[in-house]
Amino acid sequence: MLLVPVKMKFESYADRGVDPAVELINRLSPGWSQGRLWRLPVDPVSRHDLAQEVEAKISGHPVTLTRQAGEEMIRLACDLRSVFELMSQGRQDRAAAMVNTLLTRYQAAPQLARHDGEPWHLHFHSQAKEAGQAVARGAMCVIALAVVIGSPGGARLGLCSAANCDRAFVDTSKNGSRRFCSPNCLSRTKVAAFRARRAILRVTLGAAQPGAPVVAVAAATLERLRRRD
Ligand SMILES: [Zn+2]
Ligand SMILES: [Zn+2]
Repeated sequence: MLLVPVKMKFESYADRGVDPAVELINRLSPGWSQGRLWRLPVDPVSRHDLAQEVEAKISGHPVTLTRQAGEEMIRLACDLRSVFELMSQGRQDRAAAMVNTLLTRYQAAPQLARHDGEPWHLHFHSQAKEAGQAVARGAMCVIALAVVIGSPGGARLGLCSAANCDRAFVDTSKNGSRRFCSPNCLSRTKVAAFRARRAILRVTLGAAQPGAPVVAVAAATLERLRRRD
């Protein structure tokens, strides 16, 4: 049995194993990232190297994955994405059912543990015999998502709402108002909205009769926007 001990601190999402889930989704599931197409390599060696690199980053130390474990990591990332997708669409029932399926698949078996003078805390394990790295990681991530979805913070698993981006995030803001995966996507969206407003004003100006009241208003607004550009 391969153990991935994770200490849980209830005051912080980061300690619940949700951050590894976000990292897996954002690196290992294809789609869009911050305005660019996010593709996974096609050839098996590059796929394996990428999965290994991501797992090493999550673990905080170099790891060696088998070829099979690399592919399992990619599959795990896609499963985790489905949970985030359902939650971001407000489909909690489906998300919960999916998490339950994944808890079974990864044979998740959280255990209370106490060691090194620390108080009792939860370890996120897989009870799969000979659990490989991907299964152990899967158990850890899925238990973490189960804990989050089973708490009021569940609504805070999200996918970026910027154009051409579908990366995942955990909203740790006080009012739960986060919509974007990154400052980059926030600013891309602001710029796009600004340009759209300006384009509408230009069309309005072009279509209006000279001297009409709308012309003066649109011209003034356009000039204001131009100065901010
Ligand atoms: Zn521990
Ligand atoms: Zn984004």
